Amino acid sequence: EKMERQEVVTSSKTHVLLFPFTAQGHINPMVQFSKRLASKGLKVTLVATNKSMQSQDSSIKVEHIANLLDEGDQIINSVDSFLDRLQVAVSHGLPELIEKQKGLGCPVKIVVYDSTMPWVLDILHKLGLYGAVFHTQSSAIAFFLGAKIFHGSLKIGSLEGENVVLPSMPLMGVKDLPSFISDMDAYPALLRLVVNWMASQWPIKTIGPTIPSMYLDKRLEDDKDYGLSLFKPGDEDCIKWLDTKESGSVVYVSFGSLANLGEDEMEELACGLKQSNRYFLWVVRASEVSKLPTNFATEASEKGLVVNWCPQLKVLAHPAMGCFMTHCGWNSTLEALSLGVPMLAVPQWTDQPTNAKYVVDIWEAGVRVKVDEKGKIRREEIEMCIREVMEGERGNKLKRNAVRWKEVAQEAVDKGGSSDKHIDEFISELACR
Ligand code: UDP
Repeated sequence: EKMERQEVVTSSKTHVLLFPFTAQGHINPMVQFSKRLASKGLKVTLVATNKSMQSQDSSIKVEHIANLLDEGDQIINSVDSFLDRLQVAVSHGLPELIEKQKGLGCPVKIVVYDSTMPWVLDILHKLGLYGAVFHTQSSAIAFFLGAKIFHGSLKIGSLEGENVVLPSMPLMGVKDLPSFISDMDAYPALLRLVVNWMASQWPIKTIGPTIPSMYLDKRLEDDKDYGLSLFKPGDEDCIKWLDTKESGSVVYVSFGSLANLGEDEMEELACGLKQSNRYFLWVVRASEVSKLPTNFATEASEKGLVVNWCPQLKVLAHPAMGCFMTHCGWNSTLEALSLGVPMLAVPQWTDQPTNAKYVVDIWEAGVRVKVDEKGKIRREEIEMCIREVMEGERGNKLKRNAVRWKEVAQEAVDKGGSSDKHIDEFISELACR
């Protein structure tokens, strides 16, 4: 341990460039990781590709190499064209930035880049630099992604009705697999082989939950830099609104920064919330507002508040919080667990079905909202699930479990905890390069 500590100290001047993908759920954890590295004495620079990403925290310097996304833009509708534009901008901007840092006398030792942009490694190789890939998903998902990359195209669509048995993972049905895998065709044995190979070739260091530790130990200071927001700063009025509500009485609803429901599902959700007769705070992004039933926000105002964006951590940490209806984005999932909030899981795509599987069956901190035969959410089911999570013995049990995970989260990020240890190991490995 003494040796490890020494290595951490020796590497204190190491300059790490951190390069998140331009999406809120990818920026937030990378910013938190940057802060952890900075707090351990490293120089960190965050590479930004959108002008609204500004830091107010002096430990992180933000360097803009492009301004690619306007607020309200929907990457989800044009991922490929966005990635193309990003790659072109980065292939010029990143080498320039690295060169500039050298000129300033702070050469970059390593670039930590989001796994969404694997081509960053080619740029780094040309510059003779190391890269470390940062997955903003769970390690289960990282293995699935690795398996997909390793095998080119993995198809397991032929598994209809069967379960997939994978090392270190719960038994999963096809509906629990990430959406980028489940439309393909291969056998569990092959997938298993690939996952084992991945585990041996590509040791993953798990860190997190990547939320500010002040939220975990209840010192609720303001953290303006939770994630360098791509959206207009969260509406503080919703915190004032929550202040007027009883403890554990509010249903918080958000589908994150990208997922979008159809108009029919928005209506089902709106009616389900109304029928539950509970207070609710619903985040409907500005680009989605037109899908709300006419006059819904005004009519529902006695019971509910609709906002375009909110300071989610503050909301989840608020005493009025009762439960979180979530799309199970990995950040939202970890944030809810870390703040002891039980969930209603409404997964949409990518890693969300797998995250929902863990929330419901492994961590037992939430229920899954069942969809109809067309895959749509229905008002009766929403109303029933809200009751299940907010009332009775089942509700109490889910809450107790969620709170237990909060303690585990705290332990992981505390000094000497698994996350803290893995960050120290990462820094030590840098010092040897
Ligand atoms: N978020 C927020 N305010 C909102 C909605 C979301 O601050 O009104 C944050 C949330 O705390 C989380 C991130 O946006 O950190 C969304 O990431 P997640 O992985 O949950 O979902 P994604 O947007 O990537 O689908």
